[in-house]
Amino acid sequence: MPVIEVDNLSKIFGKRSKEALSLLDEGLSKEEILKKTGCTVGVNRAKFQVEAGEVFVIMGLSGSGKSTLVRLLNRLINPTAGDVYVHDDNLSTMNKEQLRRVRREKMSMVFQKFGLFPFRTVLENTVFGMEVQGMDKEEREKKATEALELVGLGSFIHQYPSQLSGGMQQRVGLARALANDPEILLMDEAFSALDPLIRKDMQDELMDLQEKMQKTIIFITHDLDEALRIGDRIALMKDGSIVQIGTPEEILMNPANDYVEKFVEDVD
Ligand code: ADP
Ligand code: MG
Repeated sequence: MPVIEVDNLSKIFGKRSKEALSLLDEGLSKEEILKKTGCTVGVNRAKFQVEAGEVFVIMGLSGSGKSTLVRLLNRLINPTAGDVYVHDDNLSTMNKEQLRRVRREKMSMVFQKFGLFPFRTVLENTVFGMEVQGMDKEEREKKATEALELVGLGSFIHQYPSQLSGGMQQRVGLARALANDPEILLMDEAFSALDPLIRKDMQDELMDLQEKMQKTIIFITHDLDEALRIGDRIALMKDGSIVQIGTPEEILMNPANDYVEKFVEDVD
């Protein structure tokens, strides 16, 4: 059974979104839809399943709909059409409290901008996201410290963000997500702001961690090399649509169309 199932999922931004969606189904381009309805296409009829323990990469150029898709996955935004199931639970049928529980217990998000509080220590920053939960302070700090040790920051817990490098700050962001021990990690361009070398280190570290953790990871990137390196499967997006889903080998060896072929042609 898949951990996440996405069915027919669409997001159109703008007042006339339903109308825009039917025009999209009729085959109009996103430019035509913008001109006709003033609406922007975010995600168009996405359909896929993610299995437990899988690293599922969503890749595409800037503006292709990656962030919109990941925000639909944890219901930070509502879809124009379609459904997201986490295990067998349909997010559409959940009330606010149930959604909050899913986000808290099932999926944690790691962002590109680390979003750390400058006047809180590494430990306090890590504990911060957990404060909504019903754990006492001691228990939260213990979990946070474990997560920080996991990402190699065990000896930095009392430092402040400004005392850390970019890579270390992103590790705090990762620890903060892991501290909740979520089943699913959502990582939206989590490494994109890092210098290339540090970025490679972080990719290695994530893969090492994944060996131990076996989380289900949705990893968003616009970087093909990164996608090929860490993805078990990759979904390539263009203009809101998923144009191919496959293993790195399948994407490289069997591109589904000219767009994919062009996307991967520079890989050695
Ligand atoms: P990516 O993360 O791949 O760069 P996004 O999901 O951010 O792409 O954006 C996909 C499309 O949706 C873009 O055309 C973007 O302008 C549009 N979009 C994203 N968020 C909004 C919003 N809140 N309101 C209107 N349009 C949006
Ligand atoms: Mg984005």
